[in-house]
Amino acid sequence: MKQVPSPPRQNADPSVQYLKGIGPVRAAVLAQQGIHSLRDLLFYVPRRYLDRSQIVTISRLRELASIVKGEKLEPAQSANNCTVLAEVRSFRTVGYGRKARFVLVAADQTGSLQCVWFGGVQYWKTRFQIGETIAVSGTPSFYGQVLQIVHPETDQISTRSDEEGPDSGEIAGLMNTGGLVPIYPSGRELDRVGLHSGGMRRIIHSLISSNLYRLQDVIPESIRTKRNLLRFDRAVRQVHRPDSPEGLHQGLERMKYEELFLFQLMLARQRARMRSESTGIAFSIRSRLAREMVNSLPFKLTEAQVRVINEITADMESEQPLSRLLQGDVGSGKTVVALAAMLIAVDNGFQASLMAPTELLAEQHYRTLVSFLGSLDVNVRLLTGKKRTRLRRDILEDVSRGSANIVVGTHALFEEGVEFARLGFIVIDEQHRFGVMQRARLLQKGVSPDVLVMTATPIPRTLSLTVYGDLDVSVIDQLPRGRKPIETILRFDHQKEEVYKLTRTMVGSGRQAYYVYPVIEESEKTDLKAAVVHFEEMKQKVFPDLRVALLHGRLPSEEKEQVMRRFIGGEIDILVATTVIEVGIDVPNATLMVIENAERFGLSQLHQLRGRVGRGSDHSICVLLAGRNTGNPTDRLFPAETRSGTAEKRLNVLTSYNDGFRIAEVDLEMRGPGDYFGTRQSGIPLFRVADLLADRELLECARHDAFDLIAADPRLELPDHRMLADQLERSMAHSASVVTTA
Ligand code: ADP
Ligand code: MG
Repeated sequence: MKQVPSPPRQNADPSVQYLKGIGPVRAAVLAQQGIHSLRDLLFYVPRRYLDRSQIVTISRLRELASIVKGEKLEPAQSANNCTVLAEVRSFRTVGYGRKARFVLVAADQTGSLQCVWFGGVQYWKTRFQIGETIAVSGTPSFYGQVLQIVHPETDQISTRSDEEGPDSGEIAGLMNTGGLVPIYPSGRELDRVGLHSGGMRRIIHSLISSNLYRLQDVIPESIRTKRNLLRFDRAVRQVHRPDSPEGLHQGLERMKYEELFLFQLMLARQRARMRSESTGIAFSIRSRLAREMVNSLPFKLTEAQVRVINEITADMESEQPLSRLLQGDVGSGKTVVALAAMLIAVDNGFQASLMAPTELLAEQHYRTLVSFLGSLDVNVRLLTGKKRTRLRRDILEDVSRGSANIVVGTHALFEEGVEFARLGFIVIDEQHRFGVMQRARLLQKGVSPDVLVMTATPIPRTLSLTVYGDLDVSVIDQLPRGRKPIETILRFDHQKEEVYKLTRTMVGSGRQAYYVYPVIEESEKTDLKAAVVHFEEMKQKVFPDLRVALLHGRLPSEEKEQVMRRFIGGEIDILVATTVIEVGIDVPNATLMVIENAERFGLSQLHQLRGRVGRGSDHSICVLLAGRNTGNPTDRLFPAETRSGTAEKRLNVLTSYNDGFRIAEVDLEMRGPGDYFGTRQSGIPLFRVADLLADRELLECARHDAFDLIAADPRLELPDHRMLADQLERSMAHSASVVTTA
């Protein structure tokens, strides 16, 4: 039975299924792309635009190529980056092995053209179909008499099987649009249901020419005027069928703004809600414990540490729940700051908890706190694992009775079965691993304890505004005195002997070393195996006379702890480890860090790893050992990287900078925000139109406007804000479902 959807309610954002040409199958594929409603579809902006003034026929291309060749002297249209629209006639692979190339012949009514790719044959083979129409862009040249473009950019315009008219009609249609032809992102699944760039363009154009797209403008007029933004319907039109480059630019600005504004509005409202609906604890900040702890330290707090403690305590004193992000480069001394705050809570009769991302780190935090506390009468408990041991029962009882003052653990701290008697202060270390949603869940549990989030991953301001936009931010921007910068050097595999020698010298003078091996996912069996093999080799062949031990995430926790203990106690010279030692591990006597296959790590991660040394006052060295010589073009392990030399360029960022903020920025630029924290779990919103780096200024404006608006109308009740409230509801419902199903 055919279901007839009921007509869209006024103001609502109808599902894409209301569109002609979109049935359940296409709708399902679109949903995978995050496109559910008509609005979502309008935010599916073109990947790029072909400049119609650059579109020529093949015979014209031939002429232009001749000019390049110097056969004709006529000054003309530039031959750089021309585009032709042509039908795929044939393609084949020529040559074998490394010399293989992919040759495709395309034709229009005026002639034919060869496209050539050296390398990537396997990929290109799957990209084209005989009979489809493609746009080919590049600089033409001659190979003998044959007109060709080497390594052109290609875009699929339409397939042969398209039901809607012959290709020539499609091309004519394109030629009749404005100066710019939109090219939409595509992918296998979209292609499969005919929603390649051409198909998508037809759907979106039909939407724009219908009345459906006149979705109401959710941005209040006052803001539109202030920021000089186009109306929504105009912007949409300019983005999908531009009249001119200027129009396109304005249209994009408007859509970017809207995307950023809605997200900031969500953060602003979340923050306002938390402030109004939940009462925090107004702590008295005169704390004997905190003072005594600080006075007993073997060092003096840095000015930055003192400033940040003051920022935190000012929040604690207030009745508003504290919600603050504490940023500080590795080694800047965040732990002691957090402890001071926790002790204030304890002195006020509350419990505090410290949550670490891994058990190993929880164990270390526990040891650190205990040593900072010395003889002070504070009961610190460590809660890890799930084993129903007697010890665990004891600890749980301690926690629920309230006799445990500070509880350290992993996220298990907040799972079923753990009841705090009076939790008043929560510290979360390296929270970007947990995600925003978990944070929300934490806040729902019980009253409204203060929450301090610590991170050693310096987050460029743009990102902290988006990801942690509802938090206040404190930064420890100063390292303790007397720290020497870590010397960082880049070496390649064939220079290993030199690195081993350096290791011997270091160990010979009583120091310890880390060798870190890339096990990117601890669950990756092959990686882990490689690390174990490597360890055996180090132990038996390279350093048979030294004490070498292995540490990885899959070891039982008692064993891990035992290895760490021995390393801390100086009973191990070389610790071969996976990235479990990434954050927080603190052994001042370890002064050499060797990172194997360094090209496999992200910059920020390398910086974290490097931060494991240089923690005492001695000179430390970090060696980035790049696997497979990156200078060798036949290396196929990381072909994309090695060919362009990016691996080397990337690693040199580390040898040039010690400042984590600077590195984070470069990292973000190189990898793009989506990849920055690794996964979507990080809670980084995926923007379709806006680019967090390029659109910084717009982001600041949007943030400003959003927070102002919420300050004036916290519940979005004014008539002018009604549609905004509705829209926010819809997008929140969506982002929540994305997170829970991910
Ligand atoms: P991170 O910010 O990376 O978590 P930690 O809190 O682990 O840094 O501190 C790094 C090391 O510096 C620890 O050994 C800690 O005891 C020490 N430390 C912290 N503050 C100071 C200070 N003001 N002066 C000297 N050493 C300090
Ligand atoms: Mg730390």
